[in-house]
Amino acid sequence: MSLIVNNLQASIEETSILKGLNLEVPKGEIHAIMGPNGSGKSTLSKVIAGHDDYEVTGGSVTLDGVDLLDMEVDERSRAGLFLAFQYPAEVPGVSNANFIRAALQARLPKGEEIDAVAYYKSLYEKMDILEMDRQFTARSVNEGFSGGEKKRNEILQMMMLDPTFCILDETDSGLDIDALKIVSKGVNSMRSPDRGFLVITHYQRLLDYIEPDVVHVMADGQIVKSGGKELALELEESGYEFLKEEPAHA
Ligand code: ADP
Ligand code: MG
Repeated sequence: MSLIVNNLQASIEETSILKGLNLEVPKGEIHAIMGPNGSGKSTLSKVIAGHDDYEVTGGSVTLDGVDLLDMEVDERSRAGLFLAFQYPAEVPGVSNANFIRAALQARLPKGEEIDAVAYYKSLYEKMDILEMDRQFTARSVNEGFSGGEKKRNEILQMMMLDPTFCILDETDSGLDIDALKIVSKGVNSMRSPDRGFLVITHYQRLLDYIEPDVVHVMADGQIVKSGGKELALELEESGYEFLKEEPAHA
């Protein structure tokens, strides 16, 4: 699915954060967004997913031509969107297995039931790819999970829901190198001509494992530079100093 963001403007508590952001991710491609802390990367992902803290003050976001901004959060999810959060929430009292099952059940037509045997088979397959112990099926969602376990769990949810467009917000932060490789393996296993990815990261390291088609640099609420995957290496070398020399909105 193609994601098209056109002149997106959004604010939180009267403060403007996204200042006319343009972005196009054709289906089948992986685009990375890098940029300094506070540039609005998480805001962008949450606005696309429909987080209600943010007020959209202009522009549009479409997924394969369908306007997302008019939809409720659950409608966006059923339209094929998935967001892996930078800070995944804990859901005490709900087991991981039941949580994912309920999310899948919500997508089925009325009267249709999930086949429990097939469900667990699929769940275990994905947990094996992510090298997650079976005990995580019975534990409350993210409760007491380490940072790395939470991130793996986000990817598990993503693999189970089989979305058509995935946004990963700093999934690499808090991961050691082994966990990073495992998470990347999960993402790469989902790469498909029919699925798009937006991978937000502060560090180039993740992009050694998840190879992007395009790298964008975000600063002060806008995309200020785009290029191939070599752009990520340049940024790693030279940092974001160039942003000060080239004003974003000349
Ligand atoms: P990034 O993910 O690029 O580090 P964020 O989108 O998290 O950036 O933040 C962009 C700006 O928006 C920051 O200046 C941050 O302080 C502000 N911001 C984000 N969320 C909130 C919030 N809930 N309340 C107030 N300010 C916020
Ligand atoms: Mg962020």
